[in-house]
Amino acid sequence: MMSKTIVVLGGGIGGLVAANKVRKELSNEHEVILVDRKTRHEFNPSFLWVLTGKREISGISRDFQLLEKKGIQYINAEVQNIDVENKQVKTSLKNISYDFLVIALGAELAPESIPGLSKSGHNLYEVEEISKLADSLKGFAGGTLMILVTNLPFKCPAAPYEGALLADYLLRQKGIRDKIEIKLFTPEGIPMKVAGPEIGEAVKEMLRKREITFNPNHELSSIDPEKKEVHFGDKKEKFDLLAYVPPNKVSLALGKTDLLTETGWVKVNPRTLETESPEVFALGDAVSIKLPSGLPLPKAGVFAHGEAEIVAKNIAARVSGEQSSHEFDGNGSCFLEIGYGKAAYAKGNFYQEPQAEIKMRGPGRIWHFNKILFEKWWLWHWF
Ligand SMILES: Cc1cc2nc3c(=O)[nH]c(=O)nc-3n(C[C@H](O)[C@H](O)[C@H](O)COP(=O)(O)OP(=O)(O)OC[C@H]3O[C@@H](n4cnc5c(N)ncnc54)[C@H](O)[C@@H]3O)c2cc1C
Repeated sequence: MMSKTIVVLGGGIGGLVAANKVRKELSNEHEVILVDRKTRHEFNPSFLWVLTGKREISGISRDFQLLEKKGIQYINAEVQNIDVENKQVKTSLKNISYDFLVIALGAELAPESIPGLSKSGHNLYEVEEISKLADSLKGFAGGTLMILVTNLPFKCPAAPYEGALLADYLLRQKGIRDKIEIKLFTPEGIPMKVAGPEIGEAVKEMLRKREITFNPNHELSSIDPEKKEVHFGDKKEKFDLLAYVPPNKVSLALGKTDLLTETGWVKVNPRTLETESPEVFALGDAVSIKLPSGLPLPKAGVFAHGEAEIVAKNIAARVSGEQSSHEFDGNGSCFLEIGYGKAAYAKGNFYQEPQAEIKMRGPGRIWHFNKILFEKWWLWHWF
């Protein structure tokens, strides 16, 4: 058998799993390369524990260099373009040739695409910014805390709601919640719409109980950092402290390829994760998968993880010359942290016809504890 090179672009949740699994499936004559512009893997699902002061950034990230001992070659570089015809990736360091490619570049955060946004508040999706938000909350004496979803789609449909509930928890612990209004604005009609109306209503009820105002169907038009004012069409809303979910966009490097659909994200077979180019697979937040309901599969780590396992198996099968394909089943789950050491847990099959049936359990201590266990396992298992 000829030796093959498998290149994984991105070492986030999907890329990390794909590189590890494909390495395990293939003998050492084959090369596995992981490319990431960062030097450390950051475990996003723990980010909001930095807000509550339960985690330090260093504790929820791991050095990519550690992968070398597992036989995964790590290249620290910016992916700039993919030449599918010549099976080459152009990076800031060098061109890398591949036999099989896994695109796991996630979603690019683009706060700069909204003038004034980054000057106005804290980015709820960047861990360093979450740490600054935690400091701002500590010094916050009174006024309006606004949680703002700037654009759809955004990864982790639960995150803005968790952000609002955890901020509420912190302010109550501090004994100053009665001096602060918490308002959440989103273009969504209902929280986590893809999970169905029952879950949407349950999340609205959680917000209501904690006196967090939920303002759906609010499309952001502009923001004024000096006046601390957000404009939604003709409507203006003031804030004293702002935490925002930034626009999520496809990676610039992918925008230069023919791999995207009209949605602007990478087109894949929802089961095998193959793109239209036979040696190129894509997964996670970088792809767009249309569900039977017509809505897109949410951008979430749980799907990036499940898809990566399938991609690794399919690449290993191809390397061994097998024709059969492994298929992703669409199962997913999600924790929703609410503070007080509790979380809710939603689970179901998103590929189910005609509609995904997702059930929510909790909130309770057991789900929060399960999330902690999962985090510990994750940071130990893949490094
Ligand atoms: C605050 C927060 C909480 C979350 N909580 C949960 C949760 O509880 N459960 C859940 O399932 N999901 C959660 N998510 C969502 C989850 O983190 C993402 O959906 C998931 O990480 C997507 O995996 P991915 O591999 O597609 O991309 P990512 O994990 O985003 O990885 C992409 C990688 O590619 C690298 N990269 C990007 N562009 C380039 C380039 N041009 N060159 C080189 N490298 C590049 C990045 O540095 C990154 O390491 C959360 C997200 C956030 C922000």
